[in-house]
Amino acid sequence: MSLNESWAARAARALTPNYKQQPVALVRGQGARVWDADGKEYLDFIGGVAVDALGHCAPALVEALAEQARTVWHVSNHFYIPRQIELAEALLETAPWARRAFLCNSGCEANEAMLKLARRHFAELGQPERNEIVACTDSFHGRTLFTVTVGGQEKYRQGFGPLPGGVRHVPFGDVAALRAALGPRTAAFIVEPTLGEAGVVPAPEGYLAAAREATRRAGALLCLDEIQTGMGRTGKMWAHQWEGVEPDLLSSAKALGGGFPIGAVLATEAVGRHLVAGSHGTTFGGNPLACAVALRVLRELRGGALENGRVVGERLRDGLQRLAAGGRLERVRGRGMLLGLVLKGVSAPEVAARAREGGILVNPIGEGVIRVAPPLTLTADEADEAVRRIGAALAAAPAAS
Ligand SMILES: *Cc1c(COP(=O)(O)O)cnc(C)c1O
Repeated sequence: MSLNESWAARAARALTPNYKQQPVALVRGQGARVWDADGKEYLDFIGGVAVDALGHCAPALVEALAEQARTVWHVSNHFYIPRQIELAEALLETAPWARRAFLCNSGCEANEAMLKLARRHFAELGQPERNEIVACTDSFHGRTLFTVTVGGQEKYRQGFGPLPGGVRHVPFGDVAALRAALGPRTAAFIVEPTLGEAGVVPAPEGYLAAAREATRRAGALLCLDEIQTGMGRTGKMWAHQWEGVEPDLLSSAKALGGGFPIGAVLATEAVGRHLVAGSHGTTFGGNPLACAVALRVLRELRGGALENGRVVGERLRDGLQRLAAGGRLERVRGRGMLLGLVLKGVSAPEVAARAREGGILVNPIGEGVIRVAPPLTLTADEADEAVRRIGAALAAAPAAS
């Protein structure tokens, strides 16, 4: 039995069976590469699901983490935490409309806080009846009970009822349906600039601007879930900055800590001030270790990683686009370092398996899409190597029946 197989067998006995896993145990990473338990090397083109923005074990992050680990790990929000305050200030600098930040530990927690704040905002204004959340079909916002209810994928809600009320869904990208759904009872519309878990589906051009206009007219808040699209992933710090819109609230997580768990909500002054003392909180949120690492992630993005991701992302996209000539790739969706390969006549899990055998890890979504989310620090040579390996995997996969 190989070491990978041995880990798979132990996982099957010891863990709840809630994940569908690729049959390798990853034990080491450096930059854009990872190694499995049997020593095989891969280009990591899923990067912990769009988390490892600076690659694995980036020296700057290792240094920030080690330095903080020698200083203080955890003190709780009963006290001021300098690293947390510095991180809030640094995050607010990335979003001119935002005046307040709340820190937590993950994406679903950020969305949970964002949606709770949207309701609390209107309750504080004396309008508790304005509590409805409008969200998009096919969206993904996390796995807490509130966020699976708000998310637009029925399969994630199955068997977990009763669900919280006051949530309705509209088709993603449909401006008329959105306008019709918003009204005097709407607290907020929550949307991803690009649907990530649904296979990298960018919002149609103008949709976010129309959503901004429609929510403003209805007196409701616009909440952007930038957990997957933010932190430079699409070539700008936040994906909504491509569209020139400004939300009332924004959630971040995934790449924010470069692999260390952390989440954040950014809010305007008018809304953020309503998360009043005692209304919400978390034990670990804004913990010194997480904040020290996230601060360094932001510094590295500003110091060139964001720009590199935009430039190399274009090269990668062009290279992948050329694979369409082989007849098994319909098109490439997305921008920057978040791309969806829409397949034609081959199944995504088969392509991912061939890719893995050929030395590159990618993420199959359903039967028809491969998602890639390599580090923003990827080199041009690594991008070219990845295109060759993905091309070989497309050619090697059996035709779908
Ligand atoms: C990953 C993700 C979440 C959930 O984040 P977790 O850290 O897994 O809770 C929410 N929204 C989007 C868009 C995501 O990609």
